[in-house]
Amino acid sequence: MLQDNLQEIEKRVQAACDRAGRSRDEVTLIAVSKTKPITDLTEIYNAGVRDFGENKVQELTDKIEKMPKDIKWHMIGHLQRNKVKYIVDKVELIHSVDSFRLAEEINIQAKKKGIVVPILVEVNIAEEESKFGVSKEDAMELVKQIATLDGLTVKGLMSIAPYVVDSEENRPYFHKIKDLSVDISNENIDNVSMDILSMGMSGDFEVAIEEGATMVRVGTGIFGERNYNK
Ligand SMILES: *Cc1c(COP(=O)(O)O)cnc(C)c1O
Repeated sequence: MLQDNLQEIEKRVQAACDRAGRSRDEVTLIAVSKTKPITDLTEIYNAGVRDFGENKVQELTDKIEKMPKDIKWHMIGHLQRNKVKYIVDKVELIHSVDSFRLAEEINIQAKKKGIVVPILVEVNIAEEESKFGVSKEDAMELVKQIATLDGLTVKGLMSIAPYVVDSEENRPYFHKIKDLSVDISNENIDNVSMDILSMGMSGDFEVAIEEGATMVRVGTGIFGERNYNK
């Protein structure tokens, strides 16, 4: 059953790529498996998905232990500094870096392990009180600061758009993120590339792809509604 959901999402990703004149392989579909049991992840893994997203450190490390080793894990949730050490060498990409202090901690832990950690800077594009992320105005400065740390490398931007009924309402936000990434890219900052734009979720990933997303994070659309009471 989950495989049917996945097929449907995959079709829509492909259609959005077609509309935008983009190649399907420019867009990575991340299956956001938070709150979901290993059996569900396994079903999606068996259907060929290798990129999974989680938002909590404990759940992420549990699932890393239980799932096959060729999975690329994406940390997409707010990250506390005291938990960086548990995941820094286990994830493909940290999407949610929104302060220099957090970046410094990632840098320290990366150096201890002798690695360079790829990260995205999270931008709160609609300036919602309830969301993490740096403002669009502060993003450039934060990227420049983080770029001075050699234990991590800035690969792009991440954003969570507002919850809306009509995904078209988020198009201007996705467009702004793309514009911002071009502005940052044009600065040619050492240790910074803007190859990745992580934006778009179940409700709005098609619009995000049309506006330039290179990673979409789809949870509900693949795994169904989350039940936080269990
Ligand atoms: C939960 C979550 C998603 C997936 O949301 P859906 O609407 O279920 O697709 C994407 N990104 C982040 C950061 C999330 O926390």
